[in-house]
Amino acid sequence: MPVSPSPIGDTSALAKEAQGWLTDLIKINTTNPPGNEQEAAKYIAGILEKEGITPELLQVAPGRSAVVARLRSSALADPSKSLLLVAHMDVVGVDRPKWTVDPFAASIKDGYLYGRGAIDDKGMLAANLAAFIALKRSMIHLNRDVIFLATGDEEQGGDASIKILIAKYWDKFAAGYALNEGGAVILKNGKVQYVAVQASEKVSVNVAVIARGPSGHASQPTKDNAVIHLASAVAKIGAYSAPVYFTTIARRYFEQLAVLEDDEIGKWMRALDTPDRGEHAQKVISDASPLWNSMMRDSIAPTMLTAGVRNNVIPAEARANLNIRLLPGNTIDKLLGELTKLVNDPQVRFEIQPDAGLAAPPSSLESDFYATITKVAAQEFSGVPVLPFQSTGATDSAQLRLHNVQSYGLLPFPITEEDLKRMHGEDERIPLASFVKGVDVLAKVVAEFAAAK
Ligand SMILES: [Zn+2]
Repeated sequence: MPVSPSPIGDTSALAKEAQGWLTDLIKINTTNPPGNEQEAAKYIAGILEKEGITPELLQVAPGRSAVVARLRSSALADPSKSLLLVAHMDVVGVDRPKWTVDPFAASIKDGYLYGRGAIDDKGMLAANLAAFIALKRSMIHLNRDVIFLATGDEEQGGDASIKILIAKYWDKFAAGYALNEGGAVILKNGKVQYVAVQASEKVSVNVAVIARGPSGHASQPTKDNAVIHLASAVAKIGAYSAPVYFTTIARRYFEQLAVLEDDEIGKWMRALDTPDRGEHAQKVISDASPLWNSMMRDSIAPTMLTAGVRNNVIPAEARANLNIRLLPGNTIDKLLGELTKLVNDPQVRFEIQPDAGLAAPPSSLESDFYATITKVAAQEFSGVPVLPFQSTGATDSAQLRLHNVQSYGLLPFPITEEDLKRMHGEDERIPLASFVKGVDVLAKVVAEFAAAK
């Protein structure tokens, strides 16, 4: 079905302005912790005010505010129809010596804008702001309220996160639909390959592995040393793969991606869920990509080890942290039951940490908004496939989904896998041409969904 010409018009001048906002936002250091999002929130509020939009700062914690603004469709809002544009203002820390540029200078080099947050998530923040302002400037009559929300503390999910924001201020941004980070427009050899729209995400749980044994003098070692028991447990867990399970979204993702991959990978992707060749196919696909592996099963990554106080003292306790990402619908108790059997050591126990993410239902692949995103994205990227995506990492969308919001992740900037990997790493950057294109696509998606026909 063809999309009628966008009521939003030409966005190229707006994208230039948005590039200025992105530059300024990168220069406001919102490394979390401590986050310090208030300065970014005030900056955004200033831009909105210049457009004649009234923003509201929502204080979440000292020095940490969110900012919200609304374009009304009618005097009385229907929150179930409202569209929320959400992005987070905080960024992860930097390992400065490993960067080739100042991570907070927003420098431009070879057509890229460099800086912490260029992709995650200040690029999206600036694009959301542009789409929101484009609606206001065009004076389009809206069929639903459109709400702009910039959140904080996404990277840590602590006392200033969207969870707290929802608890304190839900009526300020209650919506039936949301557009957030979490998707991707994948660029390869200079061409867009496909668009991934995030509709679900895995659930993060940290589990401590605790080994205990008698402490003593290191000159007279015994076999019940806690360090040895912990090391043995971690080695067994490292060699373990949880069973494969295909969620609806993962199944659709692999089916559609099979068409785009080379013959060999495509063949095995198609065989993933077959009774005869499934097991081998799952091994081939898991080995080909850590992302694909993690989309098919609960994943377990040992991330921290602690034991000992002196070189010559056998400690009574040794601990490891496992960062586990459960498939939506799976429970930690079941997985820990498996791990307990596998480790099979009375000196070792597991302790679930209290910071677990909440399992949210997936967003529907049948909603009007998903259909709009699919339609506009396919048109704007010359007919490439648009696939649903279940991300292995967590975003603010899980909290929104728990409040009945159909939330989708669309990072609208065409980007290579290599650049995507820089997101929490070094030399994070966004191609300027991709930013301009992404602003246009995002504005068109929003206008197509929110303009009264
Ligand atoms: Zn992010």
